[in-house]
Amino acid sequence: MGAYAHYIYILSAALFVLSLKWMNSPSSARRGVFAGELGMALAIVGTLVNYHNNWEWILAAFLIGSAVGVPIAYIMPMTAVPQRTAMSHACGALAAALVGTAEIYHPEHELTAGMMVPLILETLLGFLTFTGSLMAMGKLQEILPSRPITYKGQNLINGTLFAIAVGIGIRLILVPSDTYLYPIFAALALLFGVLLIIPIGGADMPTVIALLNSYAGLSACAMGFALDNPLLIIAGALDGSSGLILSIIMCKAMNRSFTNVLFGAFGQIQASAKDAGEQKSVRSASPEEAASILEAASSVIIVPGYGLAVAQAQHKIRELFDSLTRRGVDVKFAIHPVAGRMPGHMNVLLAEADIPYDKLVEMDEINGEFPQCDVALVIGANDVTNPAARTDQSSPIYGMPILDVDKAHTVMVIKRSMSPGFAGIDNPLYYLDKTLMLFGDAKAFVSEIVKELPAKVGA
Ligand code: NAP
Repeated sequence: MGAYAHYIYILSAALFVLSLKWMNSPSSARRGVFAGELGMALAIVGTLVNYHNNWEWILAAFLIGSAVGVPIAYIMPMTAVPQRTAMSHACGALAAALVGTAEIYHPEHELTAGMMVPLILETLLGFLTFTGSLMAMGKLQEILPSRPITYKGQNLINGTLFAIAVGIGIRLILVPSDTYLYPIFAALALLFGVLLIIPIGGADMPTVIALLNSYAGLSACAMGFALDNPLLIIAGALDGSSGLILSIIMCKAMNRSFTNVLFGAFGQIQASAKDAGEQKSVRSASPEEAASILEAASSVIIVPGYGLAVAQAQHKIRELFDSLTRRGVDVKFAIHPVAGRMPGHMNVLLAEADIPYDKLVEMDEINGEFPQCDVALVIGANDVTNPAARTDQSSPIYGMPILDVDKAHTVMVIKRSMSPGFAGIDNPLYYLDKTLMLFGDAKAFVSEIVKELPAKVGA
């Protein structure tokens, strides 16, 4: 590698590390994204400098990739970010697997066992991540059934298939000239990716996507060893480890283990919970009544969830925040680590509406404040407020840390119906005497409340 390319790669790698560091906090996240973009642009420049004989190919790939990627980034709504991320992993992993395949079949390469180790790792992880990510995307987009599909001996079949693929991979490492085995190896890796995702429910897809992110990163890292490219090794390792850390954070926030996510078939229809919910009654209220209650409160904690993202109600919530704050009401936002569909989903939405960061309080910190709070206003959140997670050992979300909204003096919940949330289970919070259901779309309902508030001042 040329000296220039080497220095550019070092700079690029440093920017990737800084990018991850800065993305850790909402106040520096924009800088983090910019650093990541700059790092990637430099990586492309470095590659152009290093492989200047093939610059037309690199430029063509860059232009085609941008022509597809930029419109997708603009068109895709925030609520579909997990699906979009899965699509990116599928493309990245396929690219890594195809590069590995090209290296294996390269006519000028004298393959040794040492060269085959990273190539086999790269292609195994690349192919299984490709089909696994496509399946995850299909489940989240509901192109495929999102419920887990299980059958007898499933883990044994999957385990055997994976073991055969690994066995063939070892054979190819030991005898690289046995390339006739490679198509079988690749087909088994592709099939394993599909079978791995089939028993996992839609509710666990964001965690699985973070895990697949990790696999795609490790595949790119192995590719770096195969191509002797230090930047790929660093970027792949960062991607692999950050994906793993993210999935660990998600599992912790849901009080689940990896084994439970991968083999627990979470998200199967809970018939008993659904039936029980249908028999109970709830109290509902109008926007006018909700406005009166909010106005009389001295402290309000707003709990945002996935429905806020669906309704795109963040700007209306900002108006509500301003209106209540002007009246001297203390308003805070309670942020659950897995509210929405990706970690940080609520932070991003509320930041978009310029809600001050210091008003966003993390779960562990805010939970102590609910017993003193006059009103907990839940907007489009469901599972993350479900008290069954604390009390009902038979609940599939038992043990998941939740926001203790049921401890507030009054609870108001904005949602469109009594439909369950992501986990597909009933929420006992809605049947408490202190709870008022505000039925309607989050944006429309908050807008009505805001309209009612000025009228009250004049009254
Ligand atoms: P949730 O449990 O999925 O509930 C969202 C609620 O929003 C629904 O009950 C829905 O009820 C309501 N809603 C939808 N559209 C609405 C609209 N336009 N206006 C008003 N309400 C609307 O969401 P959550 O409380 O945020 O919990 C997140 C769930 O995702 C958890 O189960 C978590 O484990 C899971 N998950 C999250 C992550 C992550 O990283 N964030 C990762 C993995 C899993 P209606 O249909 O009745 O309106």
